[in-house]
Amino acid sequence: MADCIFCKIINNEIPSRKVYEDDDILAFLDLTQVTPGHTLVIPKKHVADIFELDEVLAATVASKIPTIAKAIKHSNPAIKGMNIINNNGTLAYQSVFHSHIHILPRYDEQDDFSIHFGDHSENYTPEELDSIALTIKNKLEGY
Ligand code: ZN
Repeated sequence: MADCIFCKIINNEIPSRKVYEDDDILAFLDLTQVTPGHTLVIPKKHVADIFELDEVLAATVASKIPTIAKAIKHSNPAIKGMNIINNNGTLAYQSVFHSHIHILPRYDEQDDFSIHFGDHSENYTPEELDSIALTIKNKLEGY
């Protein structure tokens, strides 16, 4: 896609610090470096988000994540953990609309990355949860 910053990185129209590349995917340092070693893994084919990603391309991208994650971890003995996240849509903090997976090495509780999982389980009856699960299950049967 002509005006996509990640497609320009793939095509070497914009410089990047690449750490892995093959025919299908590219991994490079995120400019923001939320934590040291923060890396993005992207498919070379332009797809905006998870909703445009098919199973084959998703599997291709996902298959390299463990190897890249291990290399990042072994690159720095200070890395104590790792978050791997994929944001979809502006509300979900996606800012570049070429699907990408963030690999975020974690160093300590003050390393400027946080994620909050609120527990709202008390707000639902078992019947409401059954209904939510059944609705999603029925949608899956359409794919
Ligand atoms: Zn793109």
